Amino acid sequence: MNGKPVIQVDAKTIVNFASNFSHKMLCDGLTFSSGSACAYSCAFCYVPDLMRKNPHRIANPEDHVEHVIRRLRPVEVLRGQLLFKNGRPKFSDPADQRVIYASPLVDVAANMDLVRETIEICRTILELTGWHIRLLSKSNLLPKVAEALAEHRERMIFGVSTGTLDDDLAKAYEQGAPKVSKRIESLRWLQENGFRTFGMICPSLPLRDETDYRDFAESCAEELRTARCEHVWAEVINVRGESMVRTCAALRAAGFADEANRLERVSTDKVAWEEYARRTFEAHARVYGAQPGKLRFLQYVNKASRPYWESKQETGAVLL
Ligand code: SF4
Repeated sequence: MNGKPVIQVDAKTIVNFASNFSHKMLCDGLTFSSGSACAYSCAFCYVPDLMRKNPHRIANPEDHVEHVIRRLRPVEVLRGQLLFKNGRPKFSDPADQRVIYASPLVDVAANMDLVRETIEICRTILELTGWHIRLLSKSNLLPKVAEALAEHRERMIFGVSTGTLDDDLAKAYEQGAPKVSKRIESLRWLQENGFRTFGMICPSLPLRDETDYRDFAESCAEELRTARCEHVWAEVINVRGESMVRTCAALRAAGFADEANRLERVSTDKVAWEEYARRTFEAHARVYGAQPGKLRFLQYVNKASRPYWESKQETGAVLL
């Protein structure tokens, strides 16, 4: 699949009812995933390191990147989670409009097979619950999902993620994912056809100076037409484990030495890291200042940085 060998695994669950993604305000604690290793191969992806403790792990994180892991019979497993043994739905209260998010582990629309699988899973959730569904993807195929579920458009929310507007830069560290320009085109199609959308400006790299940060935030708002989005998430690049090494190597290999140097510098210098996060936040907050509640800037904090970020909660900082 997408050039990678596929491993199929038995899984007991598709839905996680107690996910930490509620802290990111992406959902109400509900997520679903029909896979455990993505068809894309982003250098910064945290999933291979996260999966070290997961039953669907592959021994080495590098090997994890090399495979697609799909869960067998996802719709059947899902139905088992949403129905009582007598076939009655467990979550049929129409007032229960919690948001479920997908996917915390894989891209939901990385090819047409996955698009079809995602449609079937969403249909089942829409049929058996009152939940709303938030789908995030790096694909340009979300409109296919939207078209198939158009009658439920008021319960579907779509977003594409990108931390840069530069196709070549994205290609360097989001290996296998469609061009950013194609993703943006698909987001605009969704907006123009009356679907609910959200922005996801992440993970964004360190830039040269204040002016570049401001230009970046403004260009993202313009290109993603964030005025039409319900919310806008943004985040700096939070590299974990080997993902920092992979990301810098990928940037260098593609000729983005300045970007790699800046990333390396902030990753080894706590003061520079904090400055990078604050400049990124402040540039986005400036754009969304007149739209209270729109920006959701995700930021990991520590004891020293907490007071600054707490003081920015009203303007969009979400503390992790
Ligand atoms: S699309 Fe998401 S899950 Fe897939 S490789 Fe990229 S960061 Fe990881």
